[in-house]
Amino acid sequence: MVDIKTRQQIRDHIFCELTRSICPECRRVIDAQVLLRDGAVYLRKRCPEHGWHEALVSSDAEWYMESLKYNKPGAIPFDFATHVDQGCPSDCGLCPEHQQHTCVGLIEITTRCNLACPTCFADAGVGYDLSLAQVESMLDRFVETEGDPEVIQISGGEPTLHPQLMEILAAARNRGIYHVMLNTNGLRLAQDVDFVRELSQYKPIIYLQFDGLTPGVYQNLRGRDLRDIKRQALENVSTSGMNVQLVATVAQGINDNEVGDILRFALEQPAVLGVCYQPVTFAGRCLNNHDPLHRMTLPDVLNALEAQTEGLFRVSDFRPVPCPHPTCLARTYAFVDGDEIVPIPRILNVDDYLDFVTNRLVPEYSLELHSLLESLWSMSAITGIEKTTADLNRCCDLSLPAGTNSERFAGNFFMIHVHGFMDEYTLDVKRLMKCCVHELLPDGRAIPFCAYNTLGYREHANQQQGGQVVR
Ligand code: SF4
Ligand code: SF4
Ligand code: SF4
Repeated sequence: MVDIKTRQQIRDHIFCELTRSICPECRRVIDAQVLLRDGAVYLRKRCPEHGWHEALVSSDAEWYMESLKYNKPGAIPFDFATHVDQGCPSDCGLCPEHQQHTCVGLIEITTRCNLACPTCFADAGVGYDLSLAQVESMLDRFVETEGDPEVIQISGGEPTLHPQLMEILAAARNRGIYHVMLNTNGLRLAQDVDFVRELSQYKPIIYLQFDGLTPGVYQNLRGRDLRDIKRQALENVSTSGMNVQLVATVAQGINDNEVGDILRFALEQPAVLGVCYQPVTFAGRCLNNHDPLHRMTLPDVLNALEAQTEGLFRVSDFRPVPCPHPTCLARTYAFVDGDEIVPIPRILNVDDYLDFVTNRLVPEYSLELHSLLESLWSMSAITGIEKTTADLNRCCDLSLPAGTNSERFAGNFFMIHVHGFMDEYTLDVKRLMKCCVHELLPDGRAIPFCAYNTLGYREHANQQQGGQVVR
């Protein structure tokens, strides 16, 4: 009997696009497919040597696809450090094919750290410090490529361990870079009041690692209970008059049930002007016990926030950030007056201004609002710096209904930001090419942050500097 096939089988996914990635085992650059399946987004790729790999990129295909309309043209830096040779992602950088300038420059001034977090993507611990002369030349190069750079992040390792941190902050200021963020675990801020007092003279925004409110979270993510350290650090920083952003690494089954509590806690702290949530990435020391198919992604954090704050913040309050690739980040701002919290997208149709693809012109279109919202939904906008405060004040005046007393909100703003970094499993060159968060290196290169962590650039930099192999 002849077997006649009467019906073709249907694939279990929608093929979305072809991009490039790397093999998570050997880091060879390979083609990758972006697939939509069961309402989620996956990256599927095949290494000729190590076979197929698949990873969850976004748990919400609709958010991912809708994000794309927030993409916008990038700005070209004044200079590139490398040439196009092997093609992305092997030519960093920046090479002339890169699609966005540096909104945020990162300088890791030390690889030393006073913690040994099991989740550390930098594998920090014992290491080396950059010299002041090296950091100064990196700042000079930053000015050369950007003209008028907006934000520098001083990072590590633990940057408060660097013996010349104050000189480094002064060097940034002397070059007109006034917006300095200091990424820290808070140990020294909690333990050394004189240091905090001296630090406050330079008024950096303190980017404080803060993962939750229960002991188990810190045991799991940081290797020890740090709750008292975090509270003391916050108290000392607040007393000295510096502003703070809390930075929470969010891991499935460890602290995804605390994102709402972190937010409520943050809103109660006068010095805290925002929270940045970062779904955990599998890089550096965080390569154990991971499952690339079951992980936190950006929309999971948004959904958890809505569920855990009883709608104080909803998923619909957030919008993608257009200056990098818009699937990388989501952000919202709220005007705050005591218990009253008004997320901007609830009173202003920000899509009229941030949807760069449709580029629709609405009847009540305001050029001023366009410029304000574009500036606020950019990586270089940070609550606590003068420009962002001025933009938010003006936005408040223009957007609140007539007759509302906008003065009660003046200066009282809060930002929530979700940054979904990529790792070896999720690396997608179309996102990388639009990255605007760049590691600045002593040799003058600027490497997109996710490339730095996944493609071996970090290891090479460490070998060049300290003769140390990180992984
Ligand atoms: S990520 Fe950017 S700088 Fe690096 S190779 Fe690709 S285009 Fe060039
Ligand atoms: S995650 Fe931060 S605090 Fe923890 S070991 Fe790495 S650099 Fe240090
Ligand atoms: S650091 Fe990674 S996730 Fe962030 S903007 Fe750059 S490519 Fe996107």
